[in-house]
Amino acid sequence: MRVIDLRSDTVTKPTRAMRDAMAAAEVGDDVYKDDPTVNKLEALAAEMCGTQSALFVPSGTQSNLLALLCHCQRGDEYIAGQEAHTYKFEAGGGAVLGSIQPQPIEYEPDGTLDFDKVMEVIKPSDDFHYARTKLLCLENTHNGKVLPLDYLEQFSRFASKHSLRTHLDGARVFNASVQQHIPVSAITRHFDSISICLSKGLGAPVGSLLCSTKEVISEASRWRKMLGGGMRQAGIIAAAGIVALTEHVERLKEDHDNAQLLAAGLQHIDELEIDTNSLQTNMVFVSVDALKAEKLRLYLEQRNILIMPMRSIIRFVTHLDISQDDIKRVVEEIKNFFIKE
Ligand SMILES: *Cc1c(COP(=O)(O)O)cnc(C)c1O
Repeated sequence: MRVIDLRSDTVTKPTRAMRDAMAAAEVGDDVYKDDPTVNKLEALAAEMCGTQSALFVPSGTQSNLLALLCHCQRGDEYIAGQEAHTYKFEAGGGAVLGSIQPQPIEYEPDGTLDFDKVMEVIKPSDDFHYARTKLLCLENTHNGKVLPLDYLEQFSRFASKHSLRTHLDGARVFNASVQQHIPVSAITRHFDSISICLSKGLGAPVGSLLCSTKEVISEASRWRKMLGGGMRQAGIIAAAGIVALTEHVERLKEDHDNAQLLAAGLQHIDELEIDTNSLQTNMVFVSVDALKAEKLRLYLEQRNILIMPMRSIIRFVTHLDISQDDIKRVVEEIKNFFIKE
């Protein structure tokens, strides 16, 4: 029986078309900028995001780190959400490798940062007691939530008023643009740099892109080399990235529909509470008694369904390798579990 893996959208396997594109990819030494497939992918990403330039990197963690290193110098500070990937889940890279101080603040329930709360932590630039506040970071989508477009508009005005640079961790920014029925550039235009992941719902095996100005990307290329991210004949993996950006963006809607289908199937189970606020893209957050969550994980694992509860919260993630039939099977098995409990 095949495995239905709902732990994350990072688990997708490259499709036949991706593998064919990878096998046929023209390659060269990307450190010399000689790889035509990498160059094509970078040009495509820059065009989609409406930026001057883009850089192909091994991971989203690296592209976020490059952005921090480019926008901030030693002793500078960036502001990000308390639960932001750039702050919480990237091993403190900005602090370790850039001597950059993070200033986390609580997210609002919709995934935005409140401007008054940001104001309170921006440091006075003329006082040497403080680190210099340089950069504001957002995440879109954040825990499945799409940031409103009018908020992004206000955000970029706020940042320029305070002479701050802006970075978007857009690991799943295409989930946002598809949900809002807009080109991704309508989101990315509000930021000085954008990181996008090809290896999440877009289904590529590896790779992320940092999109920004020529100046930032030139600086980012230097840091990428220093971090060991110069990848030589990287066209082999970039070829899958091109398929991801050209074939797999619009289909994210299927993942969003499957998330809705899953939520609808689970909503009548008394022991489960669905977070409807975050049910916007390809994630379903469900609260359940923590002991039951672990029992359910084991029960489903024995039936080739993988989930990853975090204490009392289960995050189900739909993606390229999850079909409507899979969702129906998952709902049935979860119902069975609670009938037996
Ligand atoms: C996955 C992810 C990243 C980058 O992760 P990598 O595993 O390093 O590619 C960054 N931000 C968010 C919000 C993510 O979900």
